[in-house]
Amino acid sequence: MWISGVKAVSHATGLSSLLAKRHAGVRILMFHEVGGEDYSTREFERQITYVRDRYDLVSIDEALEALATNQRHSPPKLLLTFDDGLRNHFQEVYPVLVRLVVPAVFYVCPGLIERQQWLWNHDARARIEALAPEARRRFTDEAGAPDGTPLATIEWLKLLPAPRRRDVTARLQELTPEFTPTAAQHQRFDLMSWAELLSLDPRLVTVGSHTLTHPILTGLEPEEAFKEVRASRDWLEDRLKRPVQHFCFPNGLTSPAVTASLNGIYRSAVTTVQRIARHGDDPMALPRLSAAKQLERLSWRLHRPTP
Ligand SMILES: [Zn+2]
Repeated sequence: MWISGVKAVSHATGLSSLLAKRHAGVRILMFHEVGGEDYSTREFERQITYVRDRYDLVSIDEALEALATNQRHSPPKLLLTFDDGLRNHFQEVYPVLVRLVVPAVFYVCPGLIERQQWLWNHDARARIEALAPEARRRFTDEAGAPDGTPLATIEWLKLLPAPRRRDVTARLQELTPEFTPTAAQHQRFDLMSWAELLSLDPRLVTVGSHTLTHPILTGLEPEEAFKEVRASRDWLEDRLKRPVQHFCFPNGLTSPAVTASLNGIYRSAVTTVQRIARHGDDPMALPRLSAAKQLERLSWRLHRPTP
């Protein structure tokens, strides 16, 4: 957990920059929702300004180029990535990128954009939370899920084989026919539209694939996983009229077979393994660093020595 002594260290910016300079490699930062109750757009902009002042904020092409050599860079290179194609990336994140002129990658799911459908895990979590405690208990008992918070149930669901997971989420939808998202849930979970995605300046935002519908690829039959990998690229290229060369594994989960299936389709793929990307890393399984809701924590994640 967070230690206040560490906070003092990360605030000593001289030392922070010194630590940063010791690391070769590229920091690939991973963001999800921005602009909600606990992570305001203002705080987000403060963080992006902070990293822009200390790092060389690069496009994914420049990041891959830097990783191809074993050079140390000063200032070190950093790439911003945003997962899931959320509307708040269009509404909250994009104006900040434009204002500060910083590049980024948006990983999106064309199948969900088309249907304007939430990610299954966002939908399931909101529906579980909408159930009364007794109904929630009945649901988890019936599904065979361990007792726990809605978030714990989602984590359990993520590990199920896809057909079984689909049965459980379908049952959840049956149990919550009246479910209507709150304004806050719309803000967090709605996806951007095709028109919004198409309006992003490609010089600033590289669009990558995050599969068709955000399944956990390791829970799918190989042919189905391959379809998610390849058809998502084809669909995006068709709509965007430009090459789509970068991929992001839903939940960061992959297997050697899934990773191998990206060859010849993509030039890079990112996971959720937490460390700085280095020369010699497989470009089809690049590690990232999770963003944080507080600048102090973000600063520590960026500067701490690589494990
Ligand atoms: Zn995702």
